[in-house]
Amino acid sequence: MYRMDYHHHSCHSFDSTANMEDICVHAIQNDIEEICFTEHFSVNQLAPTYGHMDFAKYTEDIQYCREKYGHSLSIKMGLELCEPHRMRETYKQTLEPLDLDFILGSVHNVNNQKLRLLLKENGINAYKLYFEELYRLVATADIDVMAHFDLMKRYAFKEYGLYSFEEFEELIRETLKKAIDRNIGIEINTSGLRSSLNQTLPFRSILELYKELGGEILTIGSDSHKAETVGSHLEEAYALAKDCGFHTIYRFEKRKPIPVEI
Ligand SMILES: [Zn+2]
Ligand SMILES: [Zn+2]
Repeated sequence: MYRMDYHHHSCHSFDSTANMEDICVHAIQNDIEEICFTEHFSVNQLAPTYGHMDFAKYTEDIQYCREKYGHSLSIKMGLELCEPHRMRETYKQTLEPLDLDFILGSVHNVNNQKLRLLLKENGINAYKLYFEELYRLVATADIDVMAHFDLMKRYAFKEYGLYSFEEFEELIRETLKKAIDRNIGIEINTSGLRSSLNQTLPFRSILELYKELGGEILTIGSDSHKAETVGSHLEEAYALAKDCGFHTIYRFEKRKPIPVEI
């Protein structure tokens, strides 16, 4: 089995201090064959991540690691964009000169409010506001894969518990259909398995619905921000994908999806 981690952060992200080389070394030790760095990036001055990224340095680091570790680890250069459906023209112009392999799209903020704050002000209704924003993202953003589909639960779980899938099924279905129409994939994000949430983002019902609707493009990522957790819980994620009926997951080259048998 070709082991890949398609969601990883290093110090090129505002919320990580991890050294890219360390991450590559750990990945090789953990028998990972391909890693895609997906550093946070936003063109919105109000986003917490704004201003952290230096694309020249990021590219340089990727090239250095490819030269040093490329013989045992395939290293891809990606980004995780905040609200890429907003300020689309600025995103387009900024990213055009880059040689990116992969773009994750995320809702980290709604109306320039961090999800944590959104939750504080709106209580359980924050789930609805989050899913509505995610639909707007998938409807227009230029991305390859939607990150952590039901991210709101990361923040809401402790106080309000899990959302009810049935309550949001219609909206989730429309979002997945739109993704399939626009050739956008989803990911199995294992970060929830490293917390008290104890489940992947999204959970099984959404993966099953995506498959049922004809969804094919699926990536697997740890969303790790430290070298020690690179590839964490990959086995569970691969098993879950198979269990939901997927026979392939995807890797990307220059933003082209390539299926890999699992
Ligand atoms: Zn992060
Ligand atoms: Zn994220």
